[in-house]
Amino acid sequence: MALSSGRPFGPAKSGKVSKSKRGTGEDALVTSMEPSPPVPILMYHKVAPVDPRSAVPGHYVPPALFRRQMRVLKALGFVSVRLADLFESNLPKRPVVITFDDGYENFALNALPALRAVGYRSTVFLVANQIGGSDVWDHAEAQVQERLLSAKQIKAAQAEGTDFGSHTLDHADLPACNRDEAWRQIADSKASLEGVLGEPVTTFCYPYGRTSPEVRGMVEEAGYRYACSTQKGANTREADRLALRRINVRSDSWTPVFLFKLLRSVRYAR
Ligand SMILES: [Zn+2]
Repeated sequence: MALSSGRPFGPAKSGKVSKSKRGTGEDALVTSMEPSPPVPILMYHKVAPVDPRSAVPGHYVPPALFRRQMRVLKALGFVSVRLADLFESNLPKRPVVITFDDGYENFALNALPALRAVGYRSTVFLVANQIGGSDVWDHAEAQVQERLLSAKQIKAAQAEGTDFGSHTLDHADLPACNRDEAWRQIADSKASLEGVLGEPVTTFCYPYGRTSPEVRGMVEEAGYRYACSTQKGANTREADRLALRRINVRSDSWTPVFLFKLLRSVRYAR
């Protein structure tokens, strides 16, 4: 792998990142650039005890496990970076982006205190028409309904450094929408969330991980700078900024599995 350069775990004893092949003249155009480590983006949904009635029990990460994962990242020297300006400046040697899909209330109750304890920031993707509501898009299949963050909880989390991105107006399956509806879901959610947050919303997350070249084009045209997919892996600086890969952290991602997934993604980043 030519991109092993940015691997945060170089020779273990020195703690230094090994020198990049790309920085040794293999590609003259990039020799002046700092070697850039691949960025793993963690994808969480619910930080709460697993509810077996849920249609997707894997989407829960119990609070104690989440706390342990954050402490392990911190102990290993990972530094949380903002998705909103991911590749805008030099990255720390061991960057990590932490994201939460759907904007569940349990983010504020269970995840935020654990993030605060280690000084990490995160990005939460909100379903703009369901602020203070519930996960209505899941109700047909699920026997449990989850509360979503209220505007007050969102503002409080924003005040302590949480970033928010769009997950459309209604958790829409975008490639299945006609063009006008897809545009409305993408662009109107941005405007709506900017009204709540009082600042630009530049990050996006495709509901169900579903996208297409047309959808991607609309996300770009609407003014988003970074968009997350559900494709697995970490991201090099050459990654498609509007189709960023992520690492799905699930209820069964107990700490060794979590670390294995994380380190493997960085090792084989594209
Ligand atoms: Zn979602």
